[in-house]
Amino acid sequence: MDYFQKQWAENNNGWFEGYAPGLPSQSNSIEATHRVMKKDLKHKKSRLSVFCHSQEKPHGLVYEWSMQRASHHKLRSKEKDDDGQPIVQLASNKNQKVFYTKPDYSDKVVDAAYKHKIEHSPVFLCISEKDCVYLTARDGHEPTKEEYKSYLERLKSCDWDDLDELNEDVNSFYIINLNEKDWENSRCTCESCLKDLVCYHVVILAAKRRLFSFEQAAMRKPLTAKAPRGPTKMGKNCLNKPVEKSAYAQTTNETQSKCLGRFSC
Ligand SMILES: [Zn+2]
Repeated sequence: MDYFQKQWAENNNGWFEGYAPGLPSQSNSIEATHRVMKKDLKHKKSRLSVFCHSQEKPHGLVYEWSMQRASHHKLRSKEKDDDGQPIVQLASNKNQKVFYTKPDYSDKVVDAAYKHKIEHSPVFLCISEKDCVYLTARDGHEPTKEEYKSYLERLKSCDWDDLDELNEDVNSFYIINLNEKDWENSRCTCESCLKDLVCYHVVILAAKRRLFSFEQAAMRKPLTAKAPRGPTKMGKNCLNKPVEKSAYAQTTNETQSKCLGRFSC
């Protein structure tokens, strides 16, 4: 623990997530792209030209990757137009691979944001109107500009005695840089946004600035399918099952026959 404290808390104290906003803190995406390249090249060492053309892939890897992500493909028919050129038709690419150009704010994140808004009612302090920078506190209290200055100084000095103090102090406030033209590309310094590029602080702030509407998001959600008419699967099985003669019915029949027998006597 002494070594860890000296090495990572005193000598190298800027290694925590969020120390350098906007810069990558891990190489996962590069490794993932490298894995795809190795798979497509069948783990063989190849020249740079394979990205443009090769014997196996005459159009090259780049062309193939582009085609996989294209929304439409051009289809050339055998028929020719008046100029003798083959007729080209556009067909939608049903197996299109999604190419994300901004973080994906799913319904799950929006629902979590709405729940957080109702439960905590977070307050946002505008730090800079020009750069659209806002501050909000983790515990929901109203932040002040003095607290913001003090927070920045503590981040700069990194003067923490232990990891718990570091974690608590770093996450006591979140700084949000709101992108007013495209709110989904906004950035926040909370753990969720640093890791997955999405967080509910951005959603709530965007809703406050009328860049996003919870009501419209709720209207876009698909309605659950109505239950089909008729018996359920379990009910069908029950109906198909042959009816066994119950003990009550047997007893009733026996009693009736006995009674009939007595009257006949
Ligand atoms: Zn956040």
